[in-house]
Amino acid sequence: MLFGSKFVPASLLLAFSILPAAFAQSPGLNALAEVEFSRLSQRDPNPLGEKALAIHPEQWKHGETEHFIYHFVSGYVVSPLSVEAEFHYRVVAKELQRAQPAGDTKSHIYIFERPADWQEFQKLGQLEPWTGGMHSQGSLFVVRNPAYKFTNNLLGHEIAHLVLHRFYSGGIPCWLDEGFAQYVSKGAHASYQRARGFNAKPHSQSVEVQELIPIAALVAMTHPPSDHVATFYDESERFVRFLASTDKARFLSLLDALARHQPFDSTLLRIYAGDFASAAMLEEKFRDYAAKDAGTSLQQAGGG
Ligand SMILES: [Zn+2]
Repeated sequence: MLFGSKFVPASLLLAFSILPAAFAQSPGLNALAEVEFSRLSQRDPNPLGEKALAIHPEQWKHGETEHFIYHFVSGYVVSPLSVEAEFHYRVVAKELQRAQPAGDTKSHIYIFERPADWQEFQKLGQLEPWTGGMHSQGSLFVVRNPAYKFTNNLLGHEIAHLVLHRFYSGGIPCWLDEGFAQYVSKGAHASYQRARGFNAKPHSQSVEVQELIPIAALVAMTHPPSDHVATFYDESERFVRFLASTDKARFLSLLDALARHQPFDSTLLRIYAGDFASAAMLEEKFRDYAAKDAGTSLQQAGGG
């Protein structure tokens, strides 16, 4: 999940990366073919999917690409989204440097358009009221608000969760799940924009030293702390970036070990032997890294 309080206005979280001009001009270009529900190649076992499709059932259309099955309302909304989803899938899978998981299971994406429908779904799914997108058991539920045309890394962030879930279905720690999703989606969003002629570079949000959650507390959290949501996301992203830039191969080994539910401290010190002699040294080095550029990074809320 990507939470909306403090650091990004909720309205931005409802915004979707779309390419409205290009698709309005040539609706046939990359248009996702509509498929009857009964002819979809796979079913979603997630009960939330059934609940989503029960909300104004007549509105839902369906389609699929290589890795995803889409449930949507408007073709002009889903078509660019399907292109972007496959793009993010490839970026995340490449970042993980892992072979494809066995099997050909596709992830289901539900795209709500009417805010009232989304609110109804939130009640059924018992989601937090400020959630603009959520993944559950490998399925993704998002709301797209046509009133906003900003782009941000929300879709990439959620796709990253879906791909992580496929590779690590036993679950990974919250900081790693959210931190990796932020880390990889910021880079992916920037390259997606660049591929379409926009000037963009990934933007990592620094964290003031006095705001930092101690590493031992951060890695023990099972959900973002409601009073430090922004810090949790920014710090988790920075921590993943720090560990990956220190040594990418070691970071991936750490990810594998934590996905097998190994304890953080001893596992990290074993895998990063030679980089960090102790938990105290890790904390000290990370503190410097986390605060880099602190105070100069406010443009993130502008949709970058
Ligand atoms: Zn998330």
